[in-house]
Formats: sequence, C-alpha cells, structure tokens
Amino acid sequence: MPWKEGVKVFCQVIVDIVHENVAKPFTYQIPDGMELTAGQRVAVPFGHMEKEGIVTALTPDTDVSPAKLRCVLRPLEEYAAIPPELIGLAEDMALKSHCPLAETLRLMIPAQMRGGRVHVKTEKTVCLCVSSEDAETAAAACTRSLKRSAILNLLKDGQPRTVHEISEHVRDPRDALKKLEADGLVKITDSEKLRMPGGSVPVVSDPGYTLTEGQQEALDEILPALGKGKGMFLLHGVTGSGKTEVFMAAVRNALSSGKSAIILVPEIALTPQMVSWFRGRFGPVAAVIHSRLSAGERYDEWRRIRRGEARVVIGARSAVFSPVKNLGMIVIDEEHESTYLNDRHPRYDTREVAANRCEREGAVLVLASATPSILSFAKARRGDYMLLEMPDRVNERPLPDVEIADMRSELEGGNRSVLSGVLKKALKECCSRGEQAILLMNRRGYNSFVSCRSCGYVVKCPNCDISMTYHIGSRDGLLRCHYCGYTMIPPSECPSCGGHYIRYFGAGTQKVEEEVRKILPGIPTARMDYDTTSGKDGHGKILEEFRSGRARILIGTQMIAKGLDFPQVTLVGVIAADLALNLPDYRSRERAFQLFTQVAGRAGRGSIPGRVIIQTYKPDDPVIGFAARQDYRAFFESEFRRRRNGLYPPFTNLARLLIESPDEENADRKAREAEACVKKLLETHPEWHRKILSVVNEPPSVQLLRGKHRRQVLMKTLVSRETDDFFSALSELTESPTDGADIYLEVNPTTMI
Ligand code: ADP
Ligand code: ZN
Repeated sequence: MPWKEGVKVFCQVIVDIVHENVAKPFTYQIPDGMELTAGQRVAVPFGHMEKEGIVTALTPDTDVSPAKLRCVLRPLEEYAAIPPELIGLAEDMALKSHCPLAETLRLMIPAQMRGGRVHVKTEKTVCLCVSSEDAETAAAACTRSLKRSAILNLLKDGQPRTVHEISEHVRDPRDALKKLEADGLVKITDSEKLRMPGGSVPVVSDPGYTLTEGQQEALDEILPALGKGKGMFLLHGVTGSGKTEVFMAAVRNALSSGKSAIILVPEIALTPQMVSWFRGRFGPVAAVIHSRLSAGERYDEWRRIRRGEARVVIGARSAVFSPVKNLGMIVIDEEHESTYLNDRHPRYDTREVAANRCEREGAVLVLASATPSILSFAKARRGDYMLLEMPDRVNERPLPDVEIADMRSELEGGNRSVLSGVLKKALKECCSRGEQAILLMNRRGYNSFVSCRSCGYVVKCPNCDISMTYHIGSRDGLLRCHYCGYTMIPPSECPSCGGHYIRYFGAGTQKVEEEVRKILPGIPTARMDYDTTSGKDGHGKILEEFRSGRARILIGTQMIAKGLDFPQVTLVGVIAADLALNLPDYRSRERAFQLFTQVAGRAGRGSIPGRVIIQTYKPDDPVIGFAARQDYRAFFESEFRRRRNGLYPPFTNLARLLIESPDEENADRKAREAEACVKKLLETHPEWHRKILSVVNEPPSVQLLRGKHRRQVLMKTLVSRETDDFFSALSELTESPTDGADIYLEVNPTTMI
C-alpha cells in the first residue's frame, strides 16, 4: 500500500444510492497518481457494480482492513462538483431532516450530472495559427478567394470566432475554412457552447435612481455587514417601497469587492422580471436557475456559476444550493411565501438553509417582504434578525385606497354575478381611462363543483375525496380533479338518483374572465393560472402581454399577487376573499392577510394612485380590516397573540404521522398501530411525554388522494430539545417496512389537507 507521512491516500465516498444501509460514507483507497479533492464526483466499485459517488473527506489513514479496501476507479470531472462548504451544509440538512446524506447532496448537483448523462453542447470555433501580420499578408495573397481573404481579415485581431459568427460576415464559409485549415493558417476546434437561458427576456437598463431616504438607511446597515461578512436582516418595506433597489445596490457592492450573491424569488414566474433587472445592470454575470429550465440549460448555468463566470444567481428555492464562489449575500425576496418550504423529501426551509449557509461562508442574509411571515417577524423582534423598515412608497406615492364590497348585500340586491356593482363600475372607469386592472380569483377553472339539485350528490374524483372542477375547453367542457389531474365528461344525469337537475356552482378564473368580457366587450384580457402557464415560458408570455398593454385586464390565481411591478395598474379586485379566509388551517389568517395586502400592493405603483376593492361575505372579519388598512404591525400583534393563546406554531409544533394505503382497512389499522406506537414511545420516555400536548388519531380533511386512503395521527408538542429527539425516534419508526402502507412524519408541514 502506498504510504507517505501526511499524504491523504484514502477517501470517504457517499455512494449515490438512497437506501438505509448506504447512508454512511464508505472508505476507498485513492490509487497512486490520482489526485482527488473533497466534493469531487468519482466512479467506485460497489458490490458487483460500478456506482457514482461523492468524495466527502480525505484521510491519511483508515481502520478498514487492507483486504477489504477497494480503489476509486476514476474521477468523473477534474473539479469538485460540490464546493467543500456545501458538503457541510448537506451534512447539517441530512441530520435535521433525518435523511441519508446522499439525498441532500443530490440537491446540490444538477440532475444531468448523475447517471452519466452529461451532455455538453459544442460549436465549431476558429482561431488563427499565424501572427496578425502573416494573416494580413496571406489575406492579400488570396486573390482567388474573396471568402478566404475576408475570413483572414476578420480573424487577424487574434480573437477566436465561432463558425456561426463568421457566417454572419462571410456567406457559407465552410469550404473556405477547410482550405485555410489545410494550409495551416487557422485551426478549427470544438469548443463548449453554454446555453444561456433567459436570453429572450427584455433587458431593463439601469434607470439610475437616487435612493430614497428609506432605501439609503437600509443600505447603510447592510453594506458594513457585507464588509464584515456577517449579519442577518429582515427588510420590511411596504409594497412599492423599492426593496429591489436596495438589494440591487447591495449586490453591486458585493460584486465590486469580488463576492457573489444569490437572489431567491418565490416563484419561477418572478424570475424573468428579476433577470431583466439584473442583466440590465450587471450583464451576463447574472445567471438563472430553476426547475423549468431544460436539463441542459440548468447544467450549463450551473457550470458558469461553478467556474465563477456567473456571480449573481437568480432563482427559485433550489438556487440556494448554487455553487457560487466567495458568497457575499443571499437575498430571499417575498420571504413569507410558503414555496420556500420544500415539502418533498428531503424537507427543508430555504430560510433556514440560507441562514446556515451564510454563517458557514461569511455571508449576509437579507429576508425581504411587505408582509413578513409571523415566524420571521417574531425572530426579528427577538433580535435574531436586524429589522430594517421602509414604511413609505417611493416618490411619496400613496398606498392604494382599499374598499370592501359586501357581497351579502349584493346578493340581497339581486346581483348574482361574481362581480359586485362597485367593481363593475370601477373596471369600466379604469378601462375608459386607458389604465390596467388586476383581478385576483384564487381558484382556477370555470365552476368549482357540480352537484345534483334533487339529491345533493356532488361529483367527486374517483381517486381523491375532492369535488371535480368544471373547465371550459376549446371544444367541450371537462371535469377535472385539481389534485391528480383525472378528467371526465360531465354527467348529464345524476349518477346517484338518475335525476336531470345537474347544476354547476362556485366560480373560478375562467368564469371571472367570461363575466369581464361580457361587461367590457372588446377589452382584451389575459388569464394567468396553472392551466395557462404550463408551457415553457408560459408565465413570461402572459406577463409580457400584460406589460405591453396588449391585455388590459389580468385575471389570475395567487400567482399574480406577488412581486410584479406594472406601473399602469390602477385597479385591483379581490373577487372572493372568503376562499382564502375559510381554509381549514391555522395559517389561513396569515396567508389571507399576505395575499390581500400583496395583491393590493400591485395597484398605484406608477404616477396614478391606485384603488382596491375586496369582495367578501364577511366584511367584519378583522383580517379584512387589517388588510384594508394595510396595517402589518396590527395584524402581526393580533395574530401573534392568537397563536400564543391557542398554542399554535411558532409556540408549538404541529406534527403528524400520515398514513397512506390503497386499502382503507389497512390504513385504519396502520393508524391505530401508529397511535399505539407513539403512546408506547411516550410511556417509556417520560422526559418526552412532558413536552407533548396531545396525540390524536383523527382522519385528515382529505381522506382519499390519488387513489390512496389517508389517515393521520396528529401531535401537538412544545418546542424543545426533547421534542426534537422524540421526532428523531419517530422518524426512525417510519423507516421500518410496513406492508401495503406508507407512513410519513411531517413536522409543521406547509399544508395539512
Ligand atoms: P417593492 O419590491 O418594495 O414592492 P419595487 O422594488 O418593485 O418595490 O419598487 C417599486 C417601484 O419603484 C419600481 O417601479 C421601481 O423601479 C421604483 N423605484 C424604486 N426605487 C426608486 C427610487 N429611488 N426612485 C424612483 N423610483 C424608484
Ligand atoms: Zn383526483
């Protein structure tokens, strides 16, 4: 065995297989002459197979007996795919979410780099093999071929050019190039071509604003922290206070001192707008990463970042793992959005991951929102984050006026439309002034349920315990399940009683669009919801249609409420506020307040003041009142008190063991077993038991989903070290095999359906 003092000849490798038994790293020997670093991907022998793995550490010695040691076969790239700092982060995450390290490491490399599918796009590049003078002489001598002479003249500055670039100057240059190559004057090579996504977004050049007082004050706190490489901020600025400008100024500062930045947005829909701002100021140094990019595009952007060519990364939550060099700052814009929680395995909260990463890499964290999450604002009050407040809009623009339309009196007055009289009138006025409007309808489709008038039967999805939504299509209408996508033709008679009184109830975005077109014929509308944005760049196209003014009224689900900046919008309507208020979740008040305040904030961002109309059947609901006054502080105080008194998170943990099985009886049985198991665990651990407030076996609100019967054991616990240990023990329990059922442990999940 080769052995030199201090030389690292062994390495720990996490083999990329997600399985209980391979959660720990394996030791391999590094063969003579092979150089490896931590974070590098390698091919290793594993059983009878060859597997990919990631080197997590190098060591000078090992306890593994020489007979058992096997050698690394080869590195998969020359560079470390995962920077060492990110390995530490992955280790922390694996511990916290109780999952194998291989799973968290996977988050950090693009899918294209696994399973040997890496595809590098190349293009032919031409460079000069002789000096400029010789090229010039040769060009002059090429009297028989104008093309060759033109190419030499083009290349004589010494810059290599792609064949494509050359063909823009010289038509059809291929034969001429071949001849030049044969003469030894130029060399043609395959060079790597990086796909640059977001190339189609219009670039917005720097408007060169002077910062407002509020912006400058916030920046004055962030910049020194950037210099020190330490600090966490919650930037609470009302809608239109110019938060983006603050972090763009901070990014400029970071870049000029050689650092990088990551800017996270809650939805892919918001990346084009952010990319156009950042590309406008910083050029191609801005990269974009999100899951709608093609695998190739993502891989190429990732490599630009890994090599340090791209130093500002804009993306949705997964971009928090971008392998930027010399991280200076992470910004989480609209930090209150629930999309920052990854509910799929491995579960993580992007805000926590970002905080951890910033601490490890000496970077600054900025969380920004007009409506911070209760959790983050509470942390800021406790001093975990420094609170930066911008209470005013830029240029002394007023916040929009919010009115409440009482839909009960509309109904009494005989108006059965989804639009109240006041909103109809406002829409007409807005359009006649040539301005734009946004209507929020937080449900897609045409009608939300179909039911029999005689017997009350509601058409439900056969796979889910959910009513089917009616969608109008290009030809016929279809009923669609919003959970599993199942579709069916609407029944003409009741499947239960055979009656003919099948009726359609409840409105969605399609219905709202139809009503708007009825009252405003000829006014072009655009609809933005899950159905209209599924194609590549679906969001971008609709937003561009609206921005350009080709569409005058934008109707959509909550995806239109956040972050968008359209100066021509002077009217915002919230069609059915009660949808958000009535959700069976302890967070529904928080989410409703955020949604209303955010969507209201889309109005009056230009020079003309905005107006907002909230339609509701509960005009006296305090949440509607807080949103109408856009009073975040008052809302926070009331909600914080309510959570403390009702023992809701962040004062407690809400957790559950979720059981899913295709067989209903099995699901029932497993739920009873799980409950018994929890109780037994608590009996044997009184120190845990003291921290548990309740354990109940109670079916979830949706008992059938995607063909699986669901049951749950709900647990409410205090927040403490002991409860963490309790959850760890429980999670081990869920990993043991169960016949015919899946059991998941969810601690404070984003939805509790
Ligand atoms: P927020 O994210 O806080 O809602 P934005 O960052 O979108 O607000 O800014 C609102 C609008 O004000 C944008 O159109 C932006 O270009 C403009 N703006 C921002 N800062 C300034 C400034 N200092 N002077 C003039 N306009 C500004
Ligand atoms: Zn379904």
